[in-house]
Amino acid sequence: MTLRNGHEFLAIPGPTNVPDAVLNAMHRPAVEIYTGPLVETTLTCLEDLKRLFGTSTGRSYIYAANGHGAWEAALTNVLSRGDKVLVLGTGRFPTLWGEMGTFIGVEVEELTFGFRQAVDPAAVEARLKADAAGQIKAVLMVQVDTASGVVNDVAAVGRAIAAAGHGTLFMVDAIASLATMPFEMDAWGIDVAVTGSQKGLMTPPGLGFVAAGPRALAAHRSAGLRTAYWDWTKRDGPVHYQKYCGTPPEHLLFGLRQAIDMLFEEGLDAVFERHRLLAEATRRAVGVWAEGGALSFNVLDPAARANSITAVRVEGADPQALRSYCTEVCGVTLGEGIGELLGHGVRIAHMGHVNAAMMLGTLAVVETALGALGIAHGKGGVQAAIDFLAAAVPPADVRPAEESPLRRVQGS
Ligand SMILES: *Cc1c(COP(=O)(O)O)cnc(C)c1O
Repeated sequence: MTLRNGHEFLAIPGPTNVPDAVLNAMHRPAVEIYTGPLVETTLTCLEDLKRLFGTSTGRSYIYAANGHGAWEAALTNVLSRGDKVLVLGTGRFPTLWGEMGTFIGVEVEELTFGFRQAVDPAAVEARLKADAAGQIKAVLMVQVDTASGVVNDVAAVGRAIAAAGHGTLFMVDAIASLATMPFEMDAWGIDVAVTGSQKGLMTPPGLGFVAAGPRALAAHRSAGLRTAYWDWTKRDGPVHYQKYCGTPPEHLLFGLRQAIDMLFEEGLDAVFERHRLLAEATRRAVGVWAEGGALSFNVLDPAARANSITAVRVEGADPQALRSYCTEVCGVTLGEGIGELLGHGVRIAHMGHVNAAMMLGTLAVVETALGALGIAHGKGGVQAAIDFLAAAVPPADVRPAEESPLRRVQGS
């Protein structure tokens, strides 16, 4: 017996749900790649990516690549073999970015904050002050670590770097956070920012994005690790084809154009607030379930829990059984625990194209699964999520009833 027939919900932290409008925008014939509408799509997407990254002084780049490609683009464009970078470890992803650096000959030092805590800016400041010789060429961090569910205070780390008076470049992974929460490249002193298409940007996987500020572009001129495919200088050339170092990923670009239009139409502040509310509703539910003892938040400090993904520890029960029940019986797919949470947790994504129905449905399915599997949990998690949303979103924000299309049709 299953209850699976119907719309399947994907609640994994990437790839995220692709809106129908984005899918439809990609459903069109291939087009010419040197002139015509694709050129305009590229130029407007590059401009709008700068706005999303919060930079007016930087340049943006689009790669036919996933987030790992964007990571490599960031490293190779500004560093040389033997350069040292400082990785701020807060889960899994900063470490993986660092490993990519090791592979290409960069010396990596990790300042680790464990799997359950955010970066401590004071520790970064102290480490940089101790580097009087200026050996550290770049600091690498992520805004939201998708493995641990931690959100780091990027602005505070930017201030710590400034306070240390150190000339390091500041490189930030916003792959699981851009378009889900504020990101201000210029204001926060970020030199290189990276993201991908398939998380907050609601587009299928396959596009990697990088923004480079003036200091990064200056470092680029003498960087020794540059390669033809990732190279910013080559991509800055006047020919459209050069911007992709070959054939543009045109259908993904049409999808991206539509997705960005949707984000701007909703308004970025409204997008961030929607994420905050749906994340908080999720946290209210998890908080109640945790009273049963088997479930707990991976991130210890409530203020360091991300608005795009919640990582839940599961002890004394099988998280895989929980995920299986949700998927096989109910048609809701949760994220698997990774890193320290592999086999010890699940991840609930609330990122990108999600609304109250999808999140409340997802939470209700999790609570159903906890009951069916006999996993100890506090009852009423979903009710707590509902109560939170009902109090947080007043009816004044809702479109007046007389504007309802149904009413117009009914002539009432
Ligand atoms: C998903 C993710 C990545 C990796 O992106 P891919 O597209 O899978 O290569 C890197 N960093 C963070 C924070 C992510 O969430």
